[in-house]
Amino acid sequence: MSTIAAISTAPGIGGIGVVRMSGENAFLILKEIFKPKNNFQIESIKGYQIKYGFIMKEREVIDEVLVSFFKAPNSYTKENLCEISSHGGAYVVRRILELCLENGAELAEPGEFTKRAFLNGRIDLSQAEAVIDIINAKTEKEAKSSINQLEGILSKQIKKIRDMLISVMVEIDVSIDYPEYDIEEMENSKACELLEKVLKELHKLENSFENGKIIREGIKIALIGKPNAGKSSLLNAILKEDRAIVTDIEGTTRDTIEESVVIEGIPIHIIDTAGIRKAGNEVEKIGIEKSKKMAEQADLLIAIFDASKELDNEDEEILELLKDKKCLVILNKIDLKDLKINKEDIFKVIGKNEIVEISAKENIGIEKIYEKISKMFAINEIQLDNSAMITNIRHKNIIQEAIINTKKAIEEAKQNVPIDMLAFSIKEILESLGKITGETVSDEIIKEIFSKFCLGK
Ligand code: GDP
Repeated sequence: MSTIAAISTAPGIGGIGVVRMSGENAFLILKEIFKPKNNFQIESIKGYQIKYGFIMKEREVIDEVLVSFFKAPNSYTKENLCEISSHGGAYVVRRILELCLENGAELAEPGEFTKRAFLNGRIDLSQAEAVIDIINAKTEKEAKSSINQLEGILSKQIKKIRDMLISVMVEIDVSIDYPEYDIEEMENSKACELLEKVLKELHKLENSFENGKIIREGIKIALIGKPNAGKSSLLNAILKEDRAIVTDIEGTTRDTIEESVVIEGIPIHIIDTAGIRKAGNEVEKIGIEKSKKMAEQADLLIAIFDASKELDNEDEEILELLKDKKCLVILNKIDLKDLKINKEDIFKVIGKNEIVEISAKENIGIEKIYEKISKMFAINEIQLDNSAMITNIRHKNIIQEAIINTKKAIEEAKQNVPIDMLAFSIKEILESLGKITGETVSDEIIKEIFSKFCLGK
């Protein structure tokens, strides 16, 4: 494979910048541009060593650097790999990369270092995908679940399921190879038993996706309510900063604002919708439609009412939106003396448990909202133990495909189909699962996965 090079640090000015080079000729190319102190001979490098020196273009010093050496196969890519740490800053780092390219390296594609780690067998595809997830992780839980995946927890689980299937295949092969022993019927029932076990494991993985999704994408909350109920004030109280504009004039929050907070390690995205009210003008109409749409897409609906006022028709309409949905009602402005809202009317539509009384203005009761959300989604039960968890939609689709194929195979086994036909169906399940770890995945999919990486990774 060619030798590749790329800038691995984020663009812009920073303390240090790193140019990474990997491939058979990495050290030879480096030798052309790197003058180590004490005339150290790069050929005699042992790996896991750092050398100090200068990057030179003929007699011109480009920068003072440290180079980390990783000798094949003990490197990220399993190839000879070096990382040149220079002073950060756009010019120097780019110049060093150019020198690598001038001396025979090729510019790496996004994710190519990790792709090589995969192609050279150091990690499987699900582990490579975990690398992107770690880079993109915004919360501790998200990072932890990706690290679990990188450590191979998911791969091991997939391997366990594949091994179960392979054991069925082996038995089937035996009965195909020795047809004189009339063992077909027995094999079918045994296969069925094992396939049922496989199905159970696959379902477990499928179910883990819900928690995985929460860790990864967080919970989407649509905040709805009549203008002036206090949506912006609540959002501000939650965010503890004045991002949403609080105003006395009805209907000024025309579009939607999305803000995120992290509760117990889970990202919560709050969409503050435009006030749901009879459309006064075109602009607001768009806002209302949007509100309804947002409400449909949200994992949780939070409706906020002004507790100092009685419920009117518009409020009823909002309550109507909550029916049969995961929802929470907030009665705001409890700091005011004369509270006119009739809670019974609300209890009639949703349960008592789903009501929280607050004052967004006085910052009273905000914590109770967090507690409710946490309880509703059992956030504190989302433990990152050592069981495999699906967080990736690609993996989920594959698991579902495997479930369909397993069910089909179970049916076939029950109907005592010819054993080689059953073998074919089991092979299909194996192939599905191989797509997660990368054994049976197409080149296009691999290309697509790695194209999502950043340069230099
Ligand atoms: P929105 O239209 O739903 O976004 O409502 P705003 O957040 O803009 O609030 C409307 C008005 O109600 C503003 O004058 C706020 O200061 C006021 N308000 C909001 N929350 C409270 C509260 O808890 N108590 C009191 N007394 N006033 C509030």
